Amino acid sequence: VFPLIKKKKVFPFFKKYVLVEKIFLSSFYFKQTPHNYNFEIEKTVKKINRKISRKICFQFPEGLQKFYLFLSDFFFSKGFFFREPVISNRISFGACCIDDIFFKLVGADTSFHYGHSCLVPIIKCLVPISYIFLEIYFDQSFLVEILKKNFGKAESSLNFLSTIQFISCFKKIENELIFYFKKIKIPQNKPLSPGETLGCTSPSLWNSKNIVYIGDGRFHLESCMIESPNSRFFQYNPFSHLLFVTEFSIKEFLEERKFILLKSIINQKNFCFITGALGRQGDANIFKKIKEIFKIKKFKFFSIFSTEISIDKLDILGFKKIDIFIQIACPRLSYDWGKIFNFPLLTSFEVSVLFGFTVLNNTRYSMDYFSNSGGFWTTYIKPKKKFFF
Ligand code: SF4
Repeated sequence: VFPLIKKKKVFPFFKKYVLVEKIFLSSFYFKQTPHNYNFEIEKTVKKINRKISRKICFQFPEGLQKFYLFLSDFFFSKGFFFREPVISNRISFGACCIDDIFFKLVGADTSFHYGHSCLVPIIKCLVPISYIFLEIYFDQSFLVEILKKNFGKAESSLNFLSTIQFISCFKKIENELIFYFKKIKIPQNKPLSPGETLGCTSPSLWNSKNIVYIGDGRFHLESCMIESPNSRFFQYNPFSHLLFVTEFSIKEFLEERKFILLKSIINQKNFCFITGALGRQGDANIFKKIKEIFKIKKFKFFSIFSTEISIDKLDILGFKKIDIFIQIACPRLSYDWGKIFNFPLLTSFEVSVLFGFTVLNNTRYSMDYFSNSGGFWTTYIKPKKKFFF
């Protein structure tokens, strides 16, 4: 006698999804959104149906918010939601800006964060969050041909880096170029995916001759160039299909940061910690470590939380009271805008340099903020007892 096999329960919504899938693909993808953007609709519907969510939240980076109406309209009108979904309107610069506290406040039981990789572990979030990377597909044959034309067979190696949107194309590019060039490398800085780079974390490619960055804009590319300044960088724009040589003056960057550090050494009096309250930008682990440094050095400090770190805000807060601000938010705020702030705005790495816990390299700057192998000033590194006492 065979035991009775229970039939797997299929929610009616999912059945409905299968039925409307074809209609959806033609009406949604090809009319309202770019057809090469992967919104992972199937994954979204499965997640919603798994526990029949009561309230669903979405969070998009600014550039993608225009797709929210199409998405919510589709899900709502096709009956995947009981109630209208909620969108977080707070700015999301990176995956560190994940707004799970807002999701919890509005009573969401399922949420979706678009356009970034998973930096804040899901188990640490207050509400179950699904990351939709929003992969963008493009015709890689242009890039393959351009590389073959512009780089001789004698080139020893080619390295590829990109943001999370384009990393799925690496495998195909590697397969096509592996017989043409001696070595194709997709470097990885864990926990990021192979070839992935963030504005504050990049794989180290010291002395690599050719690094091809796939993507538009310079924000992420600059992070790679700061981490590996003696390498040769190329940028391939997948939208215009153009390949550029790109440069970055690490000398100028280092001089600027050293000048700010020097100003801070002279003015070591009144410190203020400014912790980013935008999503999970202000990391509690970094805050604890810096606080410990201040305890050891017997320095006092003020501490504030802020969703925004701007020139006006620092001017108001610091007027005749503060000499140095220490930000626990996004290190790029200091690096990109450091020159225009009227106060030194130091990162956790620079505080460690200031108090002699690490030294400043004369040729490069650490871009390891979310790296598993970063210094003690980074997010994931837990302090060792030996280090402090
Ligand atoms: S800390 Fe800044 S650069 Fe790093 S992921 Fe967040 S927003 Fe991007």
